[in-house]
Amino acid sequence: MIYLDNNATTPVDPAVLDAMLPYLRDEFANPSSGYAAGKRVRRAIEHARGQVAELLNCEPEEIVFTSGGTEGDNTALFAATRLMPHRRHLVLGSTEHDAVLRYARWLEREQGYGLTLLPVGRDGRVDPADLDRAIRPDATAAVALMWANNETGVIGPVEEAAAICAAYGVLFFTDAVQAAGKIPVSLRDSGIHFAAISGHKIHAPKGIGALYVSSRSPFHPMIHGGSQENQRRAGTENVPGIVGLGAAAEIARARLNFPAPSAGDPVGAIRDHFETQVLQSIEGVTINGHRERRTPNTCSLCIAGVDAQAMIVLMEQKGFAISAGSACTTGDLTPSHVLTAMGLSAEEARTALRFSFSRFNTLDDAASAAAALQAAVTRFREISTPR
Ligand code: PLP
Repeated sequence: MIYLDNNATTPVDPAVLDAMLPYLRDEFANPSSGYAAGKRVRRAIEHARGQVAELLNCEPEEIVFTSGGTEGDNTALFAATRLMPHRRHLVLGSTEHDAVLRYARWLEREQGYGLTLLPVGRDGRVDPADLDRAIRPDATAAVALMWANNETGVIGPVEEAAAICAAYGVLFFTDAVQAAGKIPVSLRDSGIHFAAISGHKIHAPKGIGALYVSSRSPFHPMIHGGSQENQRRAGTENVPGIVGLGAAAEIARARLNFPAPSAGDPVGAIRDHFETQVLQSIEGVTINGHRERRTPNTCSLCIAGVDAQAMIVLMEQKGFAISAGSACTTGDLTPSHVLTAMGLSAEEARTALRFSFSRFNTLDDAASAAAALQAAVTRFREISTPR
């Protein structure tokens, strides 16, 4: 199988697995234990914290290990509501991940919070002027705007949004799950209070992630118990996961340092090769989202008159794993909220496919995927055209 669904999850890098194995075998001590074996494990955790901090350009003390992106997203919003108890309004981008949207919807339904969803243009981007208008200076507790979208790869105006929030004294959170490791993410002096990342999107395992908590920001933990993670997230640490996340972060950071920006991103070259071939060979294709301000690995496209679910099956028969919209909506016939927020009709959104590449793909994978897609679309159009 040629795996082109790397925004859903990524294969664990063999080097990451190698880094983790000692902590699944011999180094099993509890990092809170006072004897040497525990101290060795503690040092491994702190080393990983430094590796993640380097990827995000922040201080190691600002990294809190979590169980993944969903916990980071929920925790950031939870902390914001606890820190600003008298402010009961939240502003979110309308294309946020469900881990943000559904938590905010729960706050709206169960706790009476006001919610403003910021519109996006056809390019998938929020207009910072809309954010400025949406903030209610006395009522807004926090703003959440994702760094990069999981379906389209569109990169949000995160730095501008953080500056606007700072001017109003509003907490600013960004879901950086799809951005970290793919594009430079620099949190130092960014004005961002909280940022969430997830291991399994960057070739570490599932069930591990990190929440950046700015040293300038107060915090309120969601999980209580022991005093792990400097009292910010209780529970015995997922040591192999943390070591894996650290190793994955170090590899990702090294790969982001291209010889020169003009040399471009090698994964971007693979994605672009795929798009060029598809646009040349298939009629009625549109690329969704801003063409430049996108993560280099992601291609979301609509193919006129084609059913995305049927395409997934046809592509699987040809040996390719791809998705329609996000993984969470696969099998669910409601059209993607991301694409409909961008102004696509429900019918158009049901023609959308996502191809997401990684460094483990090749230019040949891109070329053969484009050829397979062309054959699948031709086949679909043949059988669905009335004679
Ligand atoms: N945020 C975004 C943008 C994502 O793409 C995902 C994963 O699909 C998540 C959050 C959730 O992360 P996790 O699967 O680690 O809980």
